[in-house]
Amino acid sequence: MNLGEGLRSALRKLTGAALIDEKSVKEFVRELQRTLISNDVNVKLVFGLSKKIEERALQEKPLPGVSPKEHVVKVVYEELSNLMGSEHEPKLEPQKILMLGLFGSGKTTTTVKLAKFFKGKGLKAGVIAADTYRPAAYEQLEQLAKKNDVPFYGNKDEKQAAKVVEEGLKKLSSNDVVIVDSSGRSAFDGELKEELISIDKALNPEERFLVISADIGQVAGRQAQEFNEAVPITSVIITKLDGSGKGGGALSAVSSTGSKVAFIGTGERMEDLELFDSKKYVGRLLGFPDLETLLDKMKKISEESEKTPEQLMEEKFTFKTFAEQLRQTRKMGPLKNVFGMLGMTDMPKEMMEQSEEKLNKYEVIINSMTPAEREDAKLLKKSRSRMERIARGSGTKPEEVRKLVSEFEKMEKMMNMFKKNRGFRKQMEKMMRGGMQMPGGM
Ligand code: GDP
Ligand code: MG
Repeated sequence: MNLGEGLRSALRKLTGAALIDEKSVKEFVRELQRTLISNDVNVKLVFGLSKKIEERALQEKPLPGVSPKEHVVKVVYEELSNLMGSEHEPKLEPQKILMLGLFGSGKTTTTVKLAKFFKGKGLKAGVIAADTYRPAAYEQLEQLAKKNDVPFYGNKDEKQAAKVVEEGLKKLSSNDVVIVDSSGRSAFDGELKEELISIDKALNPEERFLVISADIGQVAGRQAQEFNEAVPITSVIITKLDGSGKGGGALSAVSSTGSKVAFIGTGERMEDLELFDSKKYVGRLLGFPDLETLLDKMKKISEESEKTPEQLMEEKFTFKTFAEQLRQTRKMGPLKNVFGMLGMTDMPKEMMEQSEEKLNKYEVIINSMTPAEREDAKLLKKSRSRMERIARGSGTKPEEVRKLVSEFEKMEKMMNMFKKNRGFRKQMEKMMRGGMQMPGGM
């Protein structure tokens, strides 16, 4: 049984039990242990997790309005997310990146995937072939880069990797981001260590990404330590999470060494690279992609019950909340009907006419923003260069980004207005309560 199936089956039994008590929790924990261990999660980590889940499930008092079952699901979800690691958020700014890892870990593929990722964020990214060890390494990166329109530098006649890096930095100096693909070995050794140190000196990178294949399971922990001792890594990229049942083992082992995970590789195509998010990963395993949203709502309701309307009104409207609202709104049907349902017939005509296509475009644009921009719209209102970067990253025109910003401002005004309108607020609250059922009949 794979990890997801095992976890879902254990959780189903728990939520199907008549009562959440010591017996049902202990049974659940035993099944959880079997599943994790058979999927190559380290035994010590598994026992640590079990203890925490048992303690919290049986001793913590659920938040007001949260049933004991929901509480246990929340505990399991949180503790599993902690086990699977923490995120390293790459900076969306000019930088140099060194890729490290053993043979076949996915370095070369991920190098080009990353260049495309940065391109998608409006940053020009080139790659350097510094794997001078393996025959044909040069051609592999060159072809992949060419196919994906990524600037490439390599020198087949130069055996010293550090030299190639120095040349490449000059040749690719018009790029914002430069990514160096280094050579691996079948196992970590002194020769590789020396080579990496010399490349590192020549490059002086901001990021050192260790690339690890998920199929090595918990051995990933030791590997992270070995590399980290040679050149301090800034974070790890776990590849081949699509094809391996040992992903949970690899992630938890890396996390236990204190290393963070920046990206995960989920396939051979260039698009198959995702920013790592342990909650999202666990949500997928458990089969509740919306669990986090759900828990967020749980949390908000309990917080809101203690807030005065004045405090509520002060809550900030950001691009992040805007994107979330777009998503939620679209689930409910065409905008016009939604507003109509709320009795908001005096909405500006412009807004009523927003088509699906336009909303899609908005989402793409918001995706190209940095987290800081999503939290603070003022950063954008003032900065033409930011708007231009976002336009490049999202494949839109600067006018379209400007348009989104100006519509966002209108929405912001409207939100403020609605917050003062008690009737509207009541209707919203009613709607939110209607949507609060647990999935799967829990
Ligand atoms: P390197 O030796 O570390 O440079 O590894 P490569 O980049 O050459 O990758 C080795 C193999 O793994 C290639 O066949 C890649 O297509 C494949 N690969 C890399 N990343 C992934 C991934 O996330 N998922 C899958 N399924 N295959 C991957
Ligand atoms: Mg390679």
